[in-house]
Amino acid sequence: MQLLDGKKVAAWYRRRLRTQVEARRKDGVYPELAIVLAGEDTASAMYASSMKKAAEAIGLQGTIHRFAATVTEETLLSCIERLNGKDEVFGILLMLPLPSHIHANRVINAICPEKDVDGLTDSSVARLYTGKPSFIPCTPKAVMAVLAYYHIALAGKEVVIVGRSNIVGKPLAQLCLQENATVTVCHSHTQALSQVVRRADVVIGAVGKAACITGDMIKPGAVVIDIGINCKNGKTVGDVAFDEAAKIAGAITPVPGGIGAVTTTMVLENVLTHK
Ligand code: NDP
Repeated sequence: MQLLDGKKVAAWYRRRLRTQVEARRKDGVYPELAIVLAGEDTASAMYASSMKKAAEAIGLQGTIHRFAATVTEETLLSCIERLNGKDEVFGILLMLPLPSHIHANRVINAICPEKDVDGLTDSSVARLYTGKPSFIPCTPKAVMAVLAYYHIALAGKEVVIVGRSNIVGKPLAQLCLQENATVTVCHSHTQALSQVVRRADVVIGAVGKAACITGDMIKPGAVVIDIGINCKNGKTVGDVAFDEAAKIAGAITPVPGGIGAVTTTMVLENVLTHK
């Protein structure tokens, strides 16, 4: 069984990104990641500051534009407009959720497609679904980066994704299709989930329920990718019952230290991709 080590993958990408930023700086270009944070959501505030640190660690400038929970939609829209117009801003990261009185869709779609490093705008989604070059949301991108790093090809393979959210399951299904996999997407209404998962050469858990993919659901030798981040008895665990699954799988990502370790780096990769 091979452990698919996300920390190793992230370190490899970060080294490459640092070199790219250095080259830009030598040319007098100082790329910036602008992070827009509105409201008091603790998880968003933590994510914003860890993104800023991650950006700075590879030489990018990271700036947090912070607004109170009472911010108006117009203020947020004019902030986005200003960032859209700044050449040094290579990427705009909007922390979600926004305060409930804001129309999130309007603010998201105000981000110009060339700076939509989270792949959230309708334009990025449409481009992904039609196979055009686009910003790919960081978690699905992290899954593809881990598979590529370990030379796990998907062509002709049966991939079963458990979870169909707009930010994880659905874009991942598109990416796997683009790699010529045969893709099944499961959700809370899927009948006989175990039987469907047992068909998979590659199982991807994106549910948000601790250990809901058990060892007996895994085909011997399958690749198991665990995206879930759950808290159980004070510990962070994935959607896959790791100890059971690891005995049967050919390769598996741990939680923590798997996909989650790569996602931040994929945002940074997006910042440097399209400019
Ligand atoms: P959502 O809650 O948006 O989606 C969960 C999906 O799981 C839904 O499609 C839901 O089905 C499906 N589901 C729920 N229960 C079952 C079940 N019993 N059987 C089959 N499918 C089920 O979650 P996200 O996609 O945002 O996140 C999924 C997990 O990934 C979470 O643990 C989250 O913390 C983690 N995550 C990790 C990231 C990382 O960096 N590693 C980043 C983003 C998320 P239905 O559509 O029918 O409701």
